[in-house]
Amino acid sequence: MTKQLKGIAVSDGIAVAKAYLLVEPDLSFEKKSIENVDQEVARLADALTQSTAELQAIRDKAAKSLGEEEAQVFDAHLMVLSDPELIGSVEGNIKDNNVNAESALKEVTDMFIGMFESMVDNPYMQERAADIKDVTKRIMSHLVGVKLPDLSMINEEVIIVAEDLTPSDTAQLDRNFVRAFVTNIGGRTSHSAIMARSLEIPAVVGTKNITEAVSEGDILALDGSSGEVIVNPTAEEIAEFESKAKAFAELKAEWEKLKNAQTVTADGKHFELAANIGTPKDLEGVNGNGGEAVGLYRTEFLYMDSPDFPSEDDQFEAYKAVLEGMNGKPVVVRTMDIGGDKELPYLKFPEEMNPFLGYRAIRICLAEDAMFRTQLRALLRASVYGNLRIMFPMIATLQEFRDAKAMLLEEKAKLVSEGVEISEDIQVGIMIEIPAAAVIADRFAKEVDFFSIGTNDLIQYTMAADRMNERVSYLYQPYNPAILRLIKNVIDSAHAEGKWAGMCGEMAGDQTAVPLLVGLGLDEFSMSATSILRTRSLMKRLDSAKMAELANKAISECDTAEEVVALVEAYTAE
Ligand code: PEP
Ligand code: MG
Repeated sequence: MTKQLKGIAVSDGIAVAKAYLLVEPDLSFEKKSIENVDQEVARLADALTQSTAELQAIRDKAAKSLGEEEAQVFDAHLMVLSDPELIGSVEGNIKDNNVNAESALKEVTDMFIGMFESMVDNPYMQERAADIKDVTKRIMSHLVGVKLPDLSMINEEVIIVAEDLTPSDTAQLDRNFVRAFVTNIGGRTSHSAIMARSLEIPAVVGTKNITEAVSEGDILALDGSSGEVIVNPTAEEIAEFESKAKAFAELKAEWEKLKNAQTVTADGKHFELAANIGTPKDLEGVNGNGGEAVGLYRTEFLYMDSPDFPSEDDQFEAYKAVLEGMNGKPVVVRTMDIGGDKELPYLKFPEEMNPFLGYRAIRICLAEDAMFRTQLRALLRASVYGNLRIMFPMIATLQEFRDAKAMLLEEKAKLVSEGVEISEDIQVGIMIEIPAAAVIADRFAKEVDFFSIGTNDLIQYTMAADRMNERVSYLYQPYNPAILRLIKNVIDSAHAEGKWAGMCGEMAGDQTAVPLLVGLGLDEFSMSATSILRTRSLMKRLDSAKMAELANKAISECDTAEEVVALVEAYTAE
């Protein structure tokens, strides 16, 4: 039966394909007393053999597609499967207590997991606990006869349907097969949405109940520009989506022509269009889309994709690759921004009630300074390979900036005394994503070299509306006059001190916001590489003086976000 759903459109493009349901499998079971102990031990052995074969296949595939290093996590899983102490205890539990394999397995693994997890200061043990959890799930799936979903093994064209996708799920997606994804929760700035845009995978999030509306094998038609999803579309609907896909491809071909063009408004004012990246691999997209700079390199992905803290040398190689890949064009590298929804398996802290307001980003870096200094050293060493700018995230107070900069200067002095060559031309700036910093931007502007406005967080903190929570997404209002006034204050404060102000939150590539930001005089716009060409095309049609008038009116005369949108529409109508 055909069903229509509407979600939040987060990554453009049209797809029609079979649904792939990524749902937490139901691995529940009943604890039973058993008579035939040998039969139960044999069931366990069988589940172990199947799990080993499966993991071996996943490992081989990961080694081929992601490299040997990434595949090592599966070696750890294979080791758990053959660990005599653990497996011996499960067998012993079956034999001694006459219980079924499921309950013996759960009891023993819960005990090991609890023991390792309690060693909170030991990242190695924390990791072992995570490995055992993962492997237990796989063995259990064979015991209860339920198949586990596995993104990396997808080998046909599908649209993924899930409650949510974690950043590491998204990183595993193979663009050759995954045509799109659609989730129950999330918003425009959740990291899965940002990754979807950089991978150019069409995506719709926040549908609330797509996982209930879809069954395995259903066909889906999805429009990542409108947020529309049709379950089991009719032949006419499929034809309609195919013609929309064709129109979108034509528009993209038009934008493509601007790849090597300057970014100038109709009246000749230049703006810098930069790209947000997560790994050196993303540079292909930056250069392929005519990016003039990297405005945000989210280095936390380097930490998240690694089984342990990346070494100074590993980091140096990554930063050097990005700087060299950009050929002297500016590269803003943001120091590690872990926390919120970005977790590191090997860096465990006690659970917090409000992780987005908790121990994260620069707060962790200033406290765990050995880790931070390693990153700073790697950055300083790489600085001679291009035009490096260093940016600190989540700065709330001037003291935090001063402390972070002092550590940078200390590491620089140490390296210089070791005879290491370092660029003398590194700008040091901050993200403005906490309202307190936006309000006193005039004070910060005296000490920093630049600002980059992180609207993803600035909006959530200003409106007190979680950026991941679709129930409060109505409050997530980039065009609210309160947000525009903060942005204006940041830009004007930078300019008053002869500094530049950029924006690396998703608002920088938002086609309704761009005319306002041009009017406010934002210097640099950093966005998903895939939004650059359409933004260049839009800017070509704007008159900067007229946009200044628009921004001024929006700030001084509008009461609501809706009024601002209407004003932008009136000013940009041809
Ligand atoms: C932001 O907050 O706007 C930003 C760019 O950082 P992130 O999305 O990584 O939090
Ligand atoms: Mg942020």
